[in-house]
Amino acid sequence: PTFEPIAPVRGLTNRSGGKMGYAVARAAREAGARVLLVSGPTALAAPFGVERMDVETAQQMADAVMAQVAQAQVFIATAAVADWRPAQPHSQKQKKSADAPPPSIALQTNPDILAAVAALPQPPYCVGFAAESENLIAHASAKRARKNVPLLVGNLGPETFGQDDNRLELFDASGHHPLGSGRKIDLARTLIVEIARRLAASDTLEREQARIQTPPGA
Ligand code: C5P
Repeated sequence: PTFEPIAPVRGLTNRSGGKMGYAVARAAREAGARVLLVSGPTALAAPFGVERMDVETAQQMADAVMAQVAQAQVFIATAAVADWRPAQPHSQKQKKSADAPPPSIALQTNPDILAAVAALPQPPYCVGFAAESENLIAHASAKRARKNVPLLVGNLGPETFGQDDNRLELFDASGHHPLGSGRKIDLARTLIVEIARRLAASDTLEREQARIQTPPGA
């Protein structure tokens, strides 16, 4: 999750606990990748061998990602980033009073980190997540197109937040395919295999295109 301060003691956040993202980081590391985990507030320990950068807000997460992403071959956006933040956080706790109406909070839109990374001139291979509460297939397919990412992983947020189990559906250019259900770490390992397969295929395609554009002896 991210945490968006309203004032020093209050803020906006969501029910994600970070378990899926940490499982993906662990699985990527087990598969031999060098992994940088940019993490919002969670009680989880960094997986063995994974470098972690702690952030709190979506803007801090965006800044950290944009500063590091040029070094990445793959960007996997698992974080449940708050879509909005209080436009003007208070510097002190707001006190309630018996006769005053409840305060209203003006919100401002946070940067969309995944969409920004996918829009870079030379983006890494981008994998998004979609935590929906209904109509997973329709919402996740639309999200993959809108964010312009080759692969998007769909799950039902309320079913899985805080749990050790999940059910994932993969969305790519050819449609959608169930990845399975089970423990998050097992699903994460399968997901890393799927990503590696797609990376290998896109590398082969790029080499093939380069070969066609530069015939032997040219
Ligand atoms: O737009 P929505 O939050 O549903 O999209 C989910 C995907 O986009 C996830 O991969 C999430 O990590 C990413 N995201 C992001 N920045 C935001 C909101 C979501 O990178 N501000």
